[in-house]
Amino acid sequence: DLRPTTATTTTTCGYCGVGCTLDVHVRDDTIAAITPTHGAPVNRGHACIKGRFAHSFARAADRLTTPLLRRDGQLVEATWQEALTTVARRLAAIRDRYGPDSIAMISSARATNEENYLAQKFIRTAIGTNNIDNCSRLCHAPSAAGLTASLGLAGGTNPLDDLDHADCVLLAGANPTEAHPVVGARIKQRVLAGARLVVVDPRRTELAALADIHLQNQPGSNVAVFNGLAHQLIDEDLVAHDFLEQRTTGFEELAALVRDYGPDAVAGIAEVPSAELIAAARLFGRSQRPIVIYGLGVTEHAHGTDGVRTLTNLAILRGSVGTPGCCGILPLRGQNNVQGASDMGALPDVLPGYQPISDAGIRDRFATAWGHPIPGRLGLRIPQMFDAAIAGDVRALYVIGEDIAQSDPTSGHVRDALRACDLVVCHDLFLSRTAEHADIVLPAASFLEKDGTFVNFDRRFQRVRPALTPPGRADTDFGILLGLADALSADLGCRTPAEALAECAALTPVFAGISHHRLDAEGPLHWPCRAPGQPGEAVLHLDRFATPDGRAALAALPYLPPGEQPDAEFPYLLVTGRRLVHYNTGSMTRRTPNTELRPAETLELHPADAARLGVREGTEVTVTSRWGRAALTAHPSRDIAPGQAFAAFHFPGATVNDLTSPHTDAITGCPEYKVTAVRIAPA
Ligand code: SF4
Repeated sequence: DLRPTTATTTTTCGYCGVGCTLDVHVRDDTIAAITPTHGAPVNRGHACIKGRFAHSFARAADRLTTPLLRRDGQLVEATWQEALTTVARRLAAIRDRYGPDSIAMISSARATNEENYLAQKFIRTAIGTNNIDNCSRLCHAPSAAGLTASLGLAGGTNPLDDLDHADCVLLAGANPTEAHPVVGARIKQRVLAGARLVVVDPRRTELAALADIHLQNQPGSNVAVFNGLAHQLIDEDLVAHDFLEQRTTGFEELAALVRDYGPDAVAGIAEVPSAELIAAARLFGRSQRPIVIYGLGVTEHAHGTDGVRTLTNLAILRGSVGTPGCCGILPLRGQNNVQGASDMGALPDVLPGYQPISDAGIRDRFATAWGHPIPGRLGLRIPQMFDAAIAGDVRALYVIGEDIAQSDPTSGHVRDALRACDLVVCHDLFLSRTAEHADIVLPAASFLEKDGTFVNFDRRFQRVRPALTPPGRADTDFGILLGLADALSADLGCRTPAEALAECAALTPVFAGISHHRLDAEGPLHWPCRAPGQPGEAVLHLDRFATPDGRAALAALPYLPPGEQPDAEFPYLLVTGRRLVHYNTGSMTRRTPNTELRPAETLELHPADAARLGVREGTEVTVTSRWGRAALTAHPSRDIAPGQAFAAFHFPGATVNDLTSPHTDAITGCPEYKVTAVRIAPA
């Protein structure tokens, strides 16, 4: 179609946490093209194959366009009034009979900040429970916990732009060329410009192949590797003495602990050659401006928070956090707004801005502003919600934009939980696997149809603007929650996204200077931004760390084994992750031409293992764990180490998360997606 487009809207990508700024070109209320915005601060005119080309899902024929109510076992079309009054009536009945804590809500990293703010306000005031969580529980909850414990705030310390000044990149447990492609490209550019690159990853990713040193460790051994690097930095006196003395605590304890993590000891745990560990420590320790970048390969472990803290130790030992000119530590957030969903308080233990529920003074301040008491009892985390549903303690599950039946581990357990509930309500774009279990499905708008803001992985608030109208009678999550509150005769106060962010800013000191008006006038702003006249703080902790004593806290934490080890029955370790052209459960990207590039999931395994199993490229295999079974086709690859396997969860038919275990991080409850013992056999 060569006709000119009729409108262009500048907005923020709704896929990964990089948060690229995109120009959406529209003709006849349909996207004609998406191009990266020239001169945008995060992506500088670049975008990946998802942000640029995976947009036809917005007008897919199977978009949900009208509410659906289950009658006689079938989901049938209903009006909004029927749907919302039914949800309100059934929620009220469950609350009245079983109490407010019998209702739980899973909010969404796919939703805007304003929608997340409204969701947590709704559940805390209209229902009266703190049972709200979001998918950060499944990915970066250990980052929030670990960075807060070590440095005092639940965010990366520096802007991505500081990568431009780094002379050494330590990349751990992340595959950004596929999962965060614009960051991957910028790391490559930096390496081509001369920066050294150390990669810690069980897989030989594209960046691992490019690295000066690739520490190809055993899945689940991160803490041993990071402690080993700390050992070597201390042993070779490659630490920032003045910084450690003046601005940190815990050095003596750490030094004592890592005496046991010499290169040979680490080799025995992680199967990383001693010489490579020593060389990696020297590269990192002798660089002037190192940067640490990490992903879910650090967090999604039974000891994920320990992984974050022991990795943060390395940045602290080098004085590369909280000092002028430092490049810091950056967690690569998975979903577009997983940082923002957490920032807005869609979590069971904190209000917006990570203000703790346990603080009665903070609860009182919110209660006064909202005109409603805030429950003091901490809410359930996502895995606990499923257990509570099966135990009969949670009777209603309200899910906004997450396909938990495909994305959460031990999916059979999740489906049991959905079946156990008296009421399941979903907002979604499509009839997802979760929606198939729902009693009421509410058709939601996509990010291309919404007004609001997202926060990207380096703490930048960015505007989201509607380029399309939602199809049929679909509505934004914001509009649905407002309608539901009205049906419950609950007053949520704010009626527009701009009002919601303004209310949040008034109650949250670290967001106090942020508003739609300012973002429209000035462009993206980093939080903390404490007053309307102040710029955001792109680099954290320059004056003091946000810990109680103002010092960065080094953590002396031992390596503990993962939840599962290979054994005779399940001799391989499965690692899960993402592919370049698809995104998470694939509900959006599978409905675009990207599917032509990857129409199905495969199981990567080492050629020697493939030969032993008698499978070749394309052989159908059955993968079995203690928790479930999946059917995949084999893809022998030397990118994976012998004894390991890799698959993504983008395709519902592959049921990869039926395999993953219920083991979770002891501190945050984040699932251990990265280590599952499996056996593999030709189908
Ligand atoms: Fe979107 Fe991430 Fe790709 Fe940027 S890198 S276009 S934010 S998916």
